[in-house]
Amino acid sequence: MVEVYSAFTNREVKDTIEAILTSWAHKLPEDRAARVLIKPNLNNDLMALTGNSADLRVLACLIEGLLNRGYRDLTVADGSNVGVDRRDINTMRRLRVSALAERYGVKVLDLNRQPGVPIALHAGARPLVATPVIEAELLISVPKVKTHCEATLSCAMKNWVGICQGQQKRHMHMDLGHNIFAINEAVVPHLIIVDGLIGMEGNGPGDGEPFRLGRIMASDDAALNDLVACRLVDLPWRDVPYLVHAERAGWFGPEDADEIAEKVAVVRPIKRAPPRSKLAELSEAPSLMWLKLAVRPLVEKPAVSEAAYRLRIIQDVYDRVDDTITELSRDAARCGDCRRCEDFCPTFLPLAQIGASPRSPDCVMCLYCWWVCPKEAISLTGQLNHLMRQVGRYKSIVETI
Ligand code: SF4
Ligand code: SF4
Repeated sequence: MVEVYSAFTNREVKDTIEAILTSWAHKLPEDRAARVLIKPNLNNDLMALTGNSADLRVLACLIEGLLNRGYRDLTVADGSNVGVDRRDINTMRRLRVSALAERYGVKVLDLNRQPGVPIALHAGARPLVATPVIEAELLISVPKVKTHCEATLSCAMKNWVGICQGQQKRHMHMDLGHNIFAINEAVVPHLIIVDGLIGMEGNGPGDGEPFRLGRIMASDDAALNDLVACRLVDLPWRDVPYLVHAERAGWFGPEDADEIAEKVAVVRPIKRAPPRSKLAELSEAPSLMWLKLAVRPLVEKPAVSEAAYRLRIIQDVYDRVDDTITELSRDAARCGDCRRCEDFCPTFLPLAQIGASPRSPDCVMCLYCWWVCPKEAISLTGQLNHLMRQVGRYKSIVETI
């Protein structure tokens, strides 16, 4: 079964997560001391409103819902993609997941830095799956809905690649579609809660555009979940290689897809990822890994990275310097009282406390209020640094989403 809910504001998210935790209560362990691992999609340092990473509103409501039910051993865990991992960028810090977790007193874990258990997949792939994932008694996957230039779609099944350790994720690319299927066959989440509030379309997962999808989904079946996700964005599921592998394995049949088409309405067609350039494909060829390693010091120079981005060889350009934003300030004279900032605040601060001085202890400095303000009524103190690029690319889109 896959449930689809409409939601967009923080209050709608809270009501929806409550409804999901009630509806799926049979999936929650009796033992309130059970190890609960929430695995959001935090593969990159692109903040959630770009459509790339898990929305803190979903995470906050989920953590709070579980704490309210008495669960006390909660961990938010993910391992970022190989490029982020190699540069030792702390996505948990950049995305403010660490600050949110601290507010609730729950743990965060970088799955790239944990011991792992080797799992044999396909085409010789044998990545290490992080031990805390294997040992969790309740595993909750929190994927996004994104286009993916190699996998076509990133949702529940693709999110599961993140349970593999650091550079070991490269193993998946020996046959990505098959190995996404295989990792889902090897380790199964108990519950999937899709953050479909803002998705990413076009050149995803690292360089697409955000779009308002306004949905949260819940299920315990990653393949059916992703079939429904395809339907919501009018993407033919047969174009998603890992779903084709799942169908061949008998995880679902054409009748399931027909039933979903009958029962689930399309929200809007997604703009698909453009074909990868020949140079991008070459750069990922396993046989040319030696060349890639040899030219890496050169490619990582900012000017060369920028050129590679413009030539569509790479999607991501990283800045190693974290932002230093420490304060927000709201200018009441500029403020149009639209309350968008309230709707996006993951800790439900009222307008009077958004950008107030002194800062509310409940503010996790996610900057969502600043991102969505259409009047530029909120200003920041500190340096944007790594955020500079995202702001230039996405701020005007996020203001109107
Ligand atoms: S989003 Fe901006 S304009 Fe709207 S209420 Fe908040 S501060 Fe004011
Ligand atoms: S006030 Fe703004 S920065 Fe602080 S938690 Fe709310 S949305 Fe995030």
